[in-house]
Amino acid sequence: MFDALALRAQFPLLIRAPELIYLDNAATTQKPLVVLDAERHFYETANANVHRGSHRLAVAATDAFEGARSSVARFINAASSNEIVFTRGATEAINLVAQSWGGANLHAGDEILLSTLEHHANIVPWQMLATRCGAIIKPVRLLSDGSLDIEHFHSLLSTKTKLVGLAHISNAIGSELPIADLIAAAHRVGAKVLIDGAQAVAHKVIDVQALDADFYVFSSHKVYGPTGIGALWARADILADMPPWQGGGEMIERVSFEVTSYAPAPARFEAGTPAIAQSVGFAAALDWLSAQDRSAIAQHEDALRLQLEQGLRQIDGLRIIGNAAQKGPVVSIAFSDAHPYDVAQFLDARNIAVRVGSHCAQPLLNSLGLKGTLRASFAAYNTSADVEALLAGLSETLELLA
Ligand code: PLP
Repeated sequence: MFDALALRAQFPLLIRAPELIYLDNAATTQKPLVVLDAERHFYETANANVHRGSHRLAVAATDAFEGARSSVARFINAASSNEIVFTRGATEAINLVAQSWGGANLHAGDEILLSTLEHHANIVPWQMLATRCGAIIKPVRLLSDGSLDIEHFHSLLSTKTKLVGLAHISNAIGSELPIADLIAAAHRVGAKVLIDGAQAVAHKVIDVQALDADFYVFSSHKVYGPTGIGALWARADILADMPPWQGGGEMIERVSFEVTSYAPAPARFEAGTPAIAQSVGFAAALDWLSAQDRSAIAQHEDALRLQLEQGLRQIDGLRIIGNAAQKGPVVSIAFSDAHPYDVAQFLDARNIAVRVGSHCAQPLLNSLGLKGTLRASFAAYNTSADVEALLAGLSETLELLA
């Protein structure tokens, strides 16, 4: 039996606030002490800028930074740490791919397939690219249960499709897309595939070699690590052909006013001083999670979701949105009469933290005819008592607001 309370005791913020019921994990997770300690230890023992220095401290900082890259590679089973580019997060990673790979490879009339449930981070960078190069974005519909309309996906896929962008798990309604099959289908027409793993990495063991996508992106802060850093994984042969996207120090080989040449990947995509201490915290989070029983955590989170969904079915005046069979630990709720913001305020007064709104997924909410939902999302440290408190809070609140 997985002991969520023992795990919770490793999170300083949750220890300081024992009354807090934190169910906003899809927005960001809390951080275990090992992550805070790792960053502090770096600043206390190895702080220097990376790559440039000849002194011992600079070497120690560089070793810590490159060691963090190796941890990220290990965590997702990348073939080499050279396939890991540090970014500010999933958003920046997608912008990098759109601007660099997209800018070099997409032309007028080329098609980009995106699912309707994408986070804005996996829509807007492609729209900006499409506006510049004349490519066309084709959205793939959803079924009423929040799963992807696979037939529609296949009907849109053609040799004109150059890029398929898909969330691994939806942040707004939790649907998990059958990405292995979709990647294989996209490859059959010669398209490249970017998987937005922002909501998947904390809950599923990711093996990028087995998945066989071309790009996989995620953020550290959603997987128990610090904010301000994330990763782009791309296959080495694809990265090798991608032009730089930002210029500056670190990303060059030689600079002159006549001709400048660029460093090989991943340095070519990391202009300027990187988030060094954050990379150490990021690696500490991934190493920490890898040392846990991942399948027990996944079972625990799924049990919490099922408990919540079962309880919600007993409450009048609400419905669960997008209750797909294949789902991450995210539950989105719409109310018949109450406004989700009002409900969230009442819940906050009971120390229950949830998120309301369109969850940076306006096309998804529009397609479901909704303005906003209330979202509860789980992490490993949540408990069955958290779910009970949320259900009791929701019942009371809806009665009060009725
Ligand atoms: N993609 C998904 C599915 C997300 O849930 C998020 C954040 O909520 C992002 C992308 C963007 O992540 P970040 O803001 O860390 O760059």
